[in-house]
Amino acid sequence: MKKVYCIGEVLIDFVAERQGSDLSKANEFTKKAGGAPANVACAISKLGGNGIFIGCVGDDPFGKFLLETLKEVGVDVSLAQLSDTFTTLAFVSLSEDGERDFVFSRGADKELKYNPDLRKNLPGNILHLGAATALLGGPLEKTYSKYLFDGLTKEMFICFDPNFRSDLWKDDEDTFIKKCMPFVEKSHLCKFSQEEAQLISGKEDLHEACDVLHKAGTKIITVTLGKDGTLLSMNGAKKVIPSVKVAPKDTTGAGDAFIGCLLYQISDLGNFGPVFEDFSLVENMVALANKAGAITTTNYGAIVALPTKEQLEK
Ligand code: ATP
Repeated sequence: MKKVYCIGEVLIDFVAERQGSDLSKANEFTKKAGGAPANVACAISKLGGNGIFIGCVGDDPFGKFLLETLKEVGVDVSLAQLSDTFTTLAFVSLSEDGERDFVFSRGADKELKYNPDLRKNLPGNILHLGAATALLGGPLEKTYSKYLFDGLTKEMFICFDPNFRSDLWKDDEDTFIKKCMPFVEKSHLCKFSQEEAQLISGKEDLHEACDVLHKAGTKIITVTLGKDGTLLSMNGAKKVIPSVKVAPKDTTGAGDAFIGCLLYQISDLGNFGPVFEDFSLVENMVALANKAGAITTTNYGAIVALPTKEQLEK
């Protein structure tokens, strides 16, 4: 079983208890561990894989809570870093019209420093870059580029998920697209939502979008389509792999469950070669990852709702 190094954002989401009002009126909040790459590491470890999380938290009670939460589901956090800066916090509420009201207090997650020791660990293993806040500047953005460009790209399997957050890039989508492109060029697998594939490629039509993104460099593309499944594009072929029918309660973390399950399966292969050559192999993997995504929507919260191997096999 190969290791999957998930690098980037980890934070606390304070979710307003009574939805339907904006943050100015919210009085009670529930504390939840969040951050896409951290969720992906949890998804992999809950399935029995080797999820390793590398991110930075504050040396404070919230940072302690985050690392403990990850450890509880079996994630290796021994390479996580502590900073003097406070743990990153996000406050979220849904207003009456369904709009998200969002205040983001960016702290320690951006302080992640490059770890040269990883040079010897990464070859032969998987690197997952689940960007989210990583492209917003600070040492973390430099760290991301270093892991991508230090000559190791051929020796590992690299996965990129841009995790576009409209709240964070409202007036600067062009910069977001420009910052994503080097990662699309160098990654072997890219996971996009429909919105991300269209935004980054500049194409409405998803088949055309995939063609533009393949041309940029990435060999395998998955575009997650919620209840409609996932579009897989590789080796000149494209196919929508249907999702599993469920009664969803909360779709938070479905995308992270999906990519975590896909990477877990890739990590279980002896070598990465077949992933690039065998469409039907990857199609079957995507079908199982769809199931992981669907199961996650049937429960509230992200990490709690991620399936275990037993739940996935049922
Ligand atoms: P996130 O907001 O977590 O980043 P995403 O937009 O990347 O999510 P989604 O498309 O919402 O990802 O979900 C990922 C996968 O989970 C889908 O491809 C699908 O297989 C499954 N899934 C999501 N929502 C549903 C649903 N309502 N019913 C069945 N399956 C679903």
